[in-house]
Amino acid sequence: MAVVDSTVMRSVLEHLWENNPSICRHWFNDLEAIDMDGGTMRFLVQEPIQLRFLQRSCIEPFTEAMQSVTGRLLGIEFITKDQLTKEPVKEVISGSTSRSMVDLDGEMLLSPDFSFDSFVVGPDNRLAHAAALAVAQQPGRAYNPFFVHGGVGLGKTHLLQAICQQTIRNNPDMKIYYTSCNTFMNHFHDAVQSGDMHSFRYRFRNYDLLVVDDIHDLSNRGTSQEEFFHTFNTLYQGGRQIVLSSDAPPNEVPDMEERLTSRFSCGLVANIERPCYETRVAIVKSKAALRSVNLPDDVASYIAARIDTNIREIEGAITKIQTLAILDGCEIDLAMTKRSIGDQLHTNSSAKLTIQDILDTVSGFYGLKLTELLSKRRHKSVSLPRQVGMYLARKHTRFSLGEIGGYFGGRDHTTVMHAIKSIDGKRIGDDRLDQDIAELELSLLE
Ligand code: ADP
Ligand code: MG
Repeated sequence: MAVVDSTVMRSVLEHLWENNPSICRHWFNDLEAIDMDGGTMRFLVQEPIQLRFLQRSCIEPFTEAMQSVTGRLLGIEFITKDQLTKEPVKEVISGSTSRSMVDLDGEMLLSPDFSFDSFVVGPDNRLAHAAALAVAQQPGRAYNPFFVHGGVGLGKTHLLQAICQQTIRNNPDMKIYYTSCNTFMNHFHDAVQSGDMHSFRYRFRNYDLLVVDDIHDLSNRGTSQEEFFHTFNTLYQGGRQIVLSSDAPPNEVPDMEERLTSRFSCGLVANIERPCYETRVAIVKSKAALRSVNLPDDVASYIAARIDTNIREIEGAITKIQTLAILDGCEIDLAMTKRSIGDQLHTNSSAKLTIQDILDTVSGFYGLKLTELLSKRRHKSVSLPRQVGMYLARKHTRFSLGEIGGYFGGRDHTTVMHAIKSIDGKRIGDDRLDQDIAELELSLLE
C-alpha cells in the first residue's frame, strides 16, 4: 500500500477549486489522502455527514481532479475513521441492524452545510434557534413538540437538519427519523396499498426523534392527518421528541384538524421572521466562508442589501459571482458583483425575458431539440431540463403557472408548480444542478 505525498492533496484541492467551485467546502482542507491501494486512492473523512456529501456529489469531480494531477486514472474512496479501524460501519440507511443513526429518505439526506455552526442567529430567529439547540441537547425534555414556522427560504429546513446532526453527535445511539411531510404521506399510501400498515406503524412509531419538514402539506389530507395524529400521540406519550416545520403557525394551516393543531401548539411554537439587514450580511459571509469564497465587505453588504426575502437566493448569487470570477480569472470585487447580479435583482432585464428565450437557452444548454423539451417524454434526460425551464420561467418572467405550462407543451399549472418545488428542493443537495442553473441564469440575464 503506497503512502501518499501530501502535495498531491494540495494539488487536487486546487484543481477542484478551479474547476468545480460549487462543490468545494472549507472542510475539504481536513480531508487526508491516506493511501493508495490497488489503484484506489482513499481519503479519510472526519464526519459521517461529510462522507455522505462526498459520496453524493463529489466522486466524479475528485476522480477527474486526481487524474489531472497524477496523470493516472485512479479510483476514489472516501472513508471515515470508523471504517478505517474496521469498526462496524454506522449505517445511515433504513433497515440497518448496526447502531442505527438516522433513517433518511433518498431525497432528504442531511447536508453538512446545514449545521448549527453555519446558522446565523439574529433578532429574527433567536427564539427558534435557542429552542432548536435546547431540543438537540435534551430531546424529549426541553420543548415537545417543537414547531417552527416561517416563510420560504428563511432557514426552517436548516434548523431541522441542525437538530438532527447535533443530536447524532450527542447521542449516537438515538433512533432518528428525518423526513418531509410528503414522503411521510407517500410511505403511508404505499403501506395502505400494499396492506402493510403494521410495519409502517412500527417503523414510524419506533423513533426517539421524529423530524417532519413542511407539515403544512398535511393540509386537506384527511386520512394522512388521521395517521399522523396516531403517530404523533404514540411518540409523544412515549416521551419521544417531535420536531415540525411549517409555512404557517398551527392554527393558520388551512384544512387541518383541530385535534392536530392543538397538539402542534402544546410544546413550543417559534416563528422565524424575515432577516434584517445585519443578519443578512452575516448570512452572506457565513455562506461564503462555507465555500471558502473570499468576499470583500462591500460585496457582502451589496448582496445583503439586494436580497431581502428569500435567503436561498443568496446562495445562488454567491455561486454566480464565484463562477464569473473563475471564468474571467479575476478577483471578486464590487464592480463585477454588480455586473453579475445587479440586473437579476431589481430590474428590467428580467422583465424583458421571454419564455421563448428560456426555451432556447435551456434546450441549447442541455443539447436537446425544442420538440423534445416540449414533448410528453418523461425520461430524466428530458424531464429535468424541462423542469429547470419552468423553474426559470417562473423566477424570471411575470407569466402565471398556467401560462408557463402552456408554453411548455400544454401542461397544467400543478405540473409547473410541482416542477418548481422539485427544482427548489433539489438545488439544495445537488450542487451540479445548482451550478447549471447559475450558468443558465448568467446567460439568460446577460
Ligand atoms: P426553508 O426551509 O425555511 O424554506 P431553508 O432552511 O431551506 O429555508 O433555507 C434556505 C437557505 O437559506 C439555506 O441555504 C439556509 O442555509 C439559508 N439560511 C436561512 N437562514 C439562515 C441563517 N439564519 N443562517 C445561515 N443560513 C441561513
Ligand atoms: Mg424547507
